[in-house]
Amino acid sequence: MASHDTSFDPSDDPSPAELLAGRPNLKQHAMDGLVLDGVPLNRIADAVGTPTWVYSAGTLRSRYRALAKALKEAGLDAQPHYAVKANDHLAILATLAKEGAGADVVSEGELRRALKAGIPADHIVYSGVGKSARELRLAVTENISQINVESAEELAMLSAIASGMGRTARVALRVNPDVEAGGHEKISTGRATDKFGIAFDHAAELYAHAATLPGIEPIGVATHIGSQILDLAPYRAAYARIADLVRTIRNAGYRVETVDCGGGLGIPYRNEPAPSPTGLAGTIKAAFHNLDVRIALEPGRWLVGPAGLLLASVVLAKQTPSTRFVVLDAAMNDLVRPAMYDAWHGILPVSATDAVAPLSPCDVVGPVCESGDTFARSRALPPLSPGARVAILDAGAYGSVMSSPYNARPRAAEVMVDGDTWTVIRERQTHEDLWAGEVVPIP
Ligand SMILES: *Cc1c(COP(=O)(O)O)cnc(C)c1O
Repeated sequence: MASHDTSFDPSDDPSPAELLAGRPNLKQHAMDGLVLDGVPLNRIADAVGTPTWVYSAGTLRSRYRALAKALKEAGLDAQPHYAVKANDHLAILATLAKEGAGADVVSEGELRRALKAGIPADHIVYSGVGKSARELRLAVTENISQINVESAEELAMLSAIASGMGRTARVALRVNPDVEAGGHEKISTGRATDKFGIAFDHAAELYAHAATLPGIEPIGVATHIGSQILDLAPYRAAYARIADLVRTIRNAGYRVETVDCGGGLGIPYRNEPAPSPTGLAGTIKAAFHNLDVRIALEPGRWLVGPAGLLLASVVLAKQTPSTRFVVLDAAMNDLVRPAMYDAWHGILPVSATDAVAPLSPCDVVGPVCESGDTFARSRALPPLSPGARVAILDAGAYGSVMSSPYNARPRAAEVMVDGDTWTVIRERQTHEDLWAGEVVPIP
């Protein structure tokens, strides 16, 4: 794959003004400091402390609507299924469900969350390379819309389970189109050597086999080529192959009702050029418009990433001979993306005074005992003394869901802003919560 640039050139960083200009939900007010929609972030931090995840319900809605509009205007019969793994909080799921989103789930927990949040079973798709018998049984019991099967072995397992229950499972075969895509080695999923999906050359044969199996109704094909994709070319390549496959399967005499185009649409963390939903819809249309198939999509990051931020406070400003370090009370256990994917996140000061102070380079780090606990290197930021607050931007996707209690750090609180009101949607974990359930087997 295209080699991933692990050391961004700080001279290419967008300025705070450029970051703000690219994020319509954020404004710097001369009095209130940084404001998300109608709520000053200082007000939230004063009330619930830091670190705290803050989500904008308005941004979730407007992004879902923009996606739905792009699909509609392309003339596609398309249903987005939000990829729950990007952020599985019930409030996020319920907000998207109200807009008409279905769900793409990858575990029993996610399936139960989606149902709990009010997403109807007939809007739920189940993906994943290792669904257990118990999970498949639940999916069949709930009669969800579609199970994306990733191997011949899984197909046999599902056939036995569904037929044993006297039920029929609607199945799409997840096909690996063998294309390179995704913003990082760890989030590319559509190459022949990746663990995901059915090898392209075996897919038509397996589809025909599926049609003979008890308890299985093959309804379509699915693909998902990676995450944080910033270029439509890999989609074009993958969808062309999938369209060929649909023709091959139909020519063999089988019905294909649906094509699940997966997720992966990237977002401009660094204000880099990124494809729009209109661009993606056009790419889907170009590949499938004359095939008369229903289209499904599995967007995760694109919907929720820009809707969230991580609010943190400066614990310490530390100067070494070589470097100014800004040590935050948030860490890699909260937001692991920089440590895990070398990800770049915008960082803005929250207070109005800090916002107009002169910038100088610093490394922004957390207190965890790992060098990888670094949010940014050589980032141009104001002085930021202890107690100053910052917002780490675009943290709505693969943020809180990936957090852990490493270093015995309780999980951060979560807040949802809606217009000029806000709600704590998850209390900060207490220290007692950390050891609840632990047993010490000492007499
Ligand atoms: C992770 C995942 C998605 C969502 O990916 P995003 O990059 O967040 O859009 C969609 N489908 C499947 C099968 C996935 O594993």
